[in-house]
Amino acid sequence: MVETKGLTQRFGQTVALDRLDLQMQPGVTGLVGANGAGKTTLLSAMLGLRTPTAGSLTVLGIDPQQAGHRLRAMIGFAPERNVLPDEMRAVDFVRHMAEVQGIPRSEARTRASDTLWLVGLGEERLRTLGTMSTGQRQRVKLAQAIASDPKLVLLDEPTDGLDPVQRSEMLNLISQISKSFSIDVVLSSHQLEEVERVCDNVVALDAGRLVACGLISELVGAGDGITLELVDLADPPGSVDAVESALAAAGLEVRREAAVLAVRGAEFAELCDHARDSVAAAGARIRRLEARRRTLEDLFDGSAADSR
Ligand code: ATP
Repeated sequence: MVETKGLTQRFGQTVALDRLDLQMQPGVTGLVGANGAGKTTLLSAMLGLRTPTAGSLTVLGIDPQQAGHRLRAMIGFAPERNVLPDEMRAVDFVRHMAEVQGIPRSEARTRASDTLWLVGLGEERLRTLGTMSTGQRQRVKLAQAIASDPKLVLLDEPTDGLDPVQRSEMLNLISQISKSFSIDVVLSSHQLEEVERVCDNVVALDAGRLVACGLISELVGAGDGITLELVDLADPPGSVDAVESALAAAGLEVRREAAVLAVRGAEFAELCDHARDSVAAAGARIRRLEARRRTLEDLFDGSAADSR
C-alpha cells in the first residue's frame, strides 16, 4: 500500500523524517509516536503535499510527486487541525467535500447523508458544524474522508480531544468501516494501547526515525520476560533493592516501578529460577510472578536503549 526508501524530510535544521525505509500493508495501520515524531509530515508526504528532501515514496503504487492529483482522488483525508467551517451544515459540508473529490452533485448528496448515518450522526446531519461537540466534529471529519469511497483513508489524530470512551468508540467505528468497505486506513495517534487493540499494522516513529514497522500480531504478544511483583516495598527493608540488584548482577535487564520488576534477557524458565533465588536470598515474598506480554511501549523503550 505504501513503500518508502530512504525517505527524508528536513525543515532547516530539523530532520522530521530520517531515512525511512518502510512498507505498509493493507488493513488498518497505526502511525504512532510522540509529539513531533514526524507523523503529520509522513501523511503530508503520502498526499504529495511536500517534496521530500531525499529518498522515494509510493502510495498505492503511485509516486505522489509524479501524479499527485490522480493519487489524491483515490485518498480520503482528515487533518488533525480543526478545519470545519462553523456556519455550514454537516450534510452540506460532507456533500461539498465529496464533490471536490469528483463525485457528481446528485450522488454526493445521497452519499453525504448515508455516511453521516454511518458514523452515527444521521439525526444531527442538518445541524451547523459550529454547534457540534468535539466528538461529533471528529465524526464529521471521518465522514467527509470516506464519502467519496476512497481506496485509502488517512486520519491524522482522529481521537484527539475525545474522552476514553469516545476514543474507543471512534477506533471501533474506523475499524468496522475499514473491514465492511475494504478501505485501507492509516491513522496517527500517540495512544499506544489503543493502536495495539484496533490496528492490524503499526509504523512507530521516534524523532523522525523508524522504531518498528509490521503486523501488530508479530510485534507484540506473549513470551518476553517476566513480571515479578513483591509483597511489600519494606518487607524486609531494602529487599526489593536487593532483588533488583541481584537480577541485574546476573546480567538481566530489569525495569522497576515500586515493588514491580519487569525482567528480560533469558528464557522464561531461567528467569523464574533467577527470580526465586534472588527473592529467597533477600528474604522477600512474591505477590505475583507471570510471563510478560511484549507491548508497543517496549518497542519504544528498546529503541531508546539502542540509541543511548
Ligand atoms: P504531533 O503529534 O504534535 O502532531 P507529529 O508526529 O505529527 O507531531 P510533525 O508535525 O510531523 O510531528 O513534526 C515533525 C517535526 O518537524 C517537528 O519537530 C516539527 O516541529 C517539524 N516541522 C513540521 N512541519 C514543519 C514546518 N512546516 N516547518 C518547520 N518545521 C516543521
